[in-house]
Amino acid sequence: MDRQQEFVLRTLEERDIRFIRLWFTDVLGFLKSVAVAPAELEGAFAEGIGFDGSAIEGFARVYESDMLAKPDPATFQILPWRSENPGAARMFCDILMPDGSPSHADPRWVLKKTLAKASDMGFSFYTHPEVEFFLLKNRPERGTRPEPIDEGGYFDHTPHSSGHDFRRQAIMMLESMGISVEYSHHEGGPGQQEIDLRYADALTTADNIMTFRLIMKEVALEQGIWASFMPKPFTEYPGSGMHTHMSLFEGDRNAFHEPGAEYQLSKTGRAFIGGLLAHAAEITAVCNQWVNSYKRLWGGAEAIAGQGGEAPSYISWGHNNRSALVRVPMYKPHKSGSTRIEFRSLDSACNPYLAFAVILAAGLKGIEEGYEMPPGAEDDVWALTSAERRALGIAPLPQSLDEAIATMERSELVAETLGEHVFDYFLRNKRAEWSEYRRQVTEYELGRYLPVL
Ligand code: GLU
Ligand code: MG
Ligand code: MG
Repeated sequence: MDRQQEFVLRTLEERDIRFIRLWFTDVLGFLKSVAVAPAELEGAFAEGIGFDGSAIEGFARVYESDMLAKPDPATFQILPWRSENPGAARMFCDILMPDGSPSHADPRWVLKKTLAKASDMGFSFYTHPEVEFFLLKNRPERGTRPEPIDEGGYFDHTPHSSGHDFRRQAIMMLESMGISVEYSHHEGGPGQQEIDLRYADALTTADNIMTFRLIMKEVALEQGIWASFMPKPFTEYPGSGMHTHMSLFEGDRNAFHEPGAEYQLSKTGRAFIGGLLAHAAEITAVCNQWVNSYKRLWGGAEAIAGQGGEAPSYISWGHNNRSALVRVPMYKPHKSGSTRIEFRSLDSACNPYLAFAVILAAGLKGIEEGYEMPPGAEDDVWALTSAERRALGIAPLPQSLDEAIATMERSELVAETLGEHVFDYFLRNKRAEWSEYRRQVTEYELGRYLPVL
């Protein structure tokens, strides 16, 4: 047993922890959990705990269903919510096949494999997500409209606002699980919140996002409200994005930073952006995986009174341009070496492991192939006519899940990054979602056609 494993066992005893929740993530990004007693843990560290993979979305076919969940002791944390009494703790797991080899269906492994590729090129990948979500008054029931908890807007600080209490409580819980928060504020829509997690390596960030979503839901329930990561619950308000700032490090050095260069952005940084833009359409299905995701991306600038949806619809980059897909945020002279790239299409309901994997793969491809960055778009891309956009070489992102899947299907980059198993499962699952959606007669159609046709 190594030192981290020993530390976990000792802590369990000292803190009288009776349940250890072993966490992992299915292909669609839902958190799964199996609880084990402390006595089982030595075995779990050595060999993993067996479970039926065929019951997990995207994991296995029925005839090869035995799988093992092997806890990663570096992710050990005590669960802070009140309902967990006696104490409970969690660890994220790697999923293994019965012979001990990694399961190709495990999203965490897909990300690890891509991080290993970056590491072969001398890079480690750091991310900082800005997670947006809505707080609603009630637990959703079919057929009822979501009701936001307040009428607030961007950065609003309303007295006695429940959003404010919520954020304080939620952030305390995040911090108690070792997840540092950089900023938090009320976002543009009523009831909409944003919490930004501190920079960390991408695997830690992805684990943190999974924990984050659960904590938001737990805290909301404790306060008698509901937290939703649905990308676009309201037609008339902005959706919930998960803009992600990223950089590559070579040892201690930020490989995107070059003092004196334009935007302090190095050649490596420019090539990474080149890769993101060149492959943006192919990776969209993974970054925006639901039918509803496209309502956010194509919510339109004008749909939202006066302030723009601020979700990117077009493939462009800009320096200080909030309609762009990729933004190079303002360089902060007091933070030397802080050059970052912000990727803005991601929504809060993606699978963070798979999304970070395809984003990183696109950026690395740009570096490998020495892609050049196209000229930046400093104008509001939404305000341009389509002829102007065409002249500037600015293409749209896929406009529906259907189009995104069709584009992904042709992508060697995504096939290679996800691996055959996840790639095939994902496409199959998303095609089924699209055909189920396609046949629905919507409220829009009834309202629009029934009175006149
Ligand atoms: N809610 C917007 C989105 O869907 C982002 C707003 C912002 O710029 O933070 O991407
Ligand atoms: Mg925001
Ligand atoms: Mg942002």
